[in-house]
Amino acid sequence: KTDMIERFVGRLTGAAEPPTVHALDNVSLTVMKGEVVGLVGESGCGKSTLGRAIAGMLPVSDGVIAHEGRDIASLRGRARMAMRLGTQIIFQDPMSSLNPRKTVREIIGEAPRVHGLVAARDIDRLVSDLLARVGLDPAMANRYPHQFSGGQRQRIGIARALAVKPEFLICDESIAALDVSIQAQVINLFMDLKRDLGLTLLFISHDLSVVQHISDRVVVMYLGRVVESAPTDEIFGPEGPRHPYTAALLAEVPRIERREHSFSTVKGEIPSPLHPPSGCHFHPRCPFAMDICKTTRPELRDFAGGHAAACHLHDGQGLRDQNSTNQNS
Ligand code: SF4
Ligand code: MG
Repeated sequence: KTDMIERFVGRLTGAAEPPTVHALDNVSLTVMKGEVVGLVGESGCGKSTLGRAIAGMLPVSDGVIAHEGRDIASLRGRARMAMRLGTQIIFQDPMSSLNPRKTVREIIGEAPRVHGLVAARDIDRLVSDLLARVGLDPAMANRYPHQFSGGQRQRIGIARALAVKPEFLICDESIAALDVSIQAQVINLFMDLKRDLGLTLLFISHDLSVVQHISDRVVVMYLGRVVESAPTDEIFGPEGPRHPYTAALLAEVPRIERREHSFSTVKGEIPSPLHPPSGCHFHPRCPFAMDICKTTRPELRDFAGGHAAACHLHDGQGLRDQNSTNQNS
């Protein structure tokens, strides 16, 4: 498809360098142009690894990351630089990624200057426009990062990412360190940017509620595997999730009108990615685990409406049927 800007196929098994932790296991993820995908899971599930691999920051030992159908590993020179600039990643802690000795003007203007994206005389105007775009006063351009609040620093980080005119933004826990009220403001900023600039977003979060309002689609990972992928409306709507892990994450989302679930929280600790459980990785924590779950890995299967889930419950009776049985009894 021509409108496909990122296509990830085959097996991605994480970093090629030792120590070899197979952080990603048979992950397949496609992000369409203009789409916002929320990538969710507990810490250590591989979502950051996947984000870095997609951004080209992490070599993959086995697998393909493709942009408009071309393997990014095969890109050289200009094409490679264009891909790198076109995909920007925004991290959780803006302080650690903003040089404390540089002014905001230098920080935001650096990449466009180095890459010759704008004429030197136009950099100041670019910086002013970007600061206004992210909701900061352009008069603050001569200040240093420590003179800003956490939320403002995250806005500076966003402005810096936008300075190279990316088409794809990867937000890795970009709002996790902020106060709840500030989180909502920064989410609104991302939604405005998506609408105004037509950005494609991969929004990585451990918190399902964070991605609810921003994502078109939610992809849930557990211990290096994608366990569910579905339109956000479906996950949060009456249909609900198909995978028990997603259902457990959803049960933790505070939302008054949501229907009751038959279990309220994810029980137990996340197993080590070094020694994942056999069969379905989620089986030691799953309230629905069956014998087959301990021995056989459930494949990610497609259902109607762009919904996919990897769970043996759907080999026969589905989770939805099981839920309605619980409710009726
Ligand atoms: Fe639970 Fe089995 Fe489904 Fe895994 S495959 S989520 S253990 S029911
Ligand atoms: Mg992470």
